[in-house]
Amino acid sequence: MSSRRVVYVVSNELVKYASLLPSNRNRSLIVHSLVKAFGLLGDLQDDGQGACVRVIRPYPAGARDLTAYHSRDYVEFLLNPETTSSLLANSSGHAEYGLEEDCPPFKGLPEYARLVAGASLAAATALRDGHADIAICWDGGRHHAHKSQASGFCYIADCILAILAMKRASIPSQPYPRKPRIMYLDLDLHFSDGVSQAFWSSASVRAGGAVPQVLTLSIHHAAPGFFPASPLASLPNVEDASFDPFTLSIPLAKGASGTTFARIWPAVERAKDAFGPDFVVVQCGVDGLAGDPNGVWNWSLGDSDGSLGWCISRVCGHWKCKTLLLGGGGYNSPNAARAWTYLTSIALGHPLSLDANIPDHAAYPLYEHSFTLDVPQGNAQDQNSDEYLSEVEINDHTEPWSQ
Ligand SMILES: [Zn+2]
Repeated sequence: MSSRRVVYVVSNELVKYASLLPSNRNRSLIVHSLVKAFGLLGDLQDDGQGACVRVIRPYPAGARDLTAYHSRDYVEFLLNPETTSSLLANSSGHAEYGLEEDCPPFKGLPEYARLVAGASLAAATALRDGHADIAICWDGGRHHAHKSQASGFCYIADCILAILAMKRASIPSQPYPRKPRIMYLDLDLHFSDGVSQAFWSSASVRAGGAVPQVLTLSIHHAAPGFFPASPLASLPNVEDASFDPFTLSIPLAKGASGTTFARIWPAVERAKDAFGPDFVVVQCGVDGLAGDPNGVWNWSLGDSDGSLGWCISRVCGHWKCKTLLLGGGGYNSPNAARAWTYLTSIALGHPLSLDANIPDHAAYPLYEHSFTLDVPQGNAQDQNSDEYLSEVEINDHTEPWSQ
């Protein structure tokens, strides 16, 4: 493709506060340090084949930005430094807003929420306003946050806020500009309950209406007791009352590897082709990679068919949509850094070699054992049967979208 304009969202302040996230302490610092150590944000010149990258510093989102989706009460509570400090002082949580258990209040939470939302909004706005072809925000991708509740390590629904900002784009068309179509693709190990529910509407409500602006497709692990429980996490069934052809799910069993992803990828492409998005938002959670403490999937970063890198190469190289790459889960921080560094290089059109040695930098010792970029597949067996994957292949609901 011709040269891509890529924006990468980072600032010292964002890294400082994103590194405080209790579920992912210091991950932000480790990730951005590795991207920088590989020189990906340096003076990469536009050579006509690759990309030029521009770093943008996010502004902290204000209450008005956040109430584009979140409830006013939740935002006021979340952004008030006194409420979080008083919870901290009393070592208590706040059940109504979900600020307990896996989403505890923490020092710096108001700044964290404002900066992470601001980061994803800055990325989305750069795409919407035509300043970039690909925007990268590894601190975003908090797909479990709800309108009035934190959930699953997610306090702020930056993915939803970004999609809502993109919805306001105007797409040149004859005789009048039209509204954009946005596809949200979620590759995290966990179901994107916050985002999928936000844009879900039952087929009966949709019947006869215009094609909606947003399609969500989540590929995730689902099993009894596995977070998050949601009827929308199952393989869609037209017979279900909850069926919505624009809220799609592909649950995968344990051990999912590149082989399984290569097999289901044509179904993802079919959904994309039928919907015809102008923008695609990819939540690149990396908790499905081999070596993650979740230990559920056995996905590789590498460039073999079906690897995470292969999927992102397809999106960035062939989909011809404006693309927003967000982070998400990923609890082996050095592997998250490896993955997002590699994906950054793919977005830039200059993929790094997976054999590349980790450059010497402050976090170098964290990469012990291999000291290379690759996150190879492990030994776990892929439990996605041929029979099940055939069911995914025939579970094609693109027909009703034909326009
Ligand atoms: Zn996850």
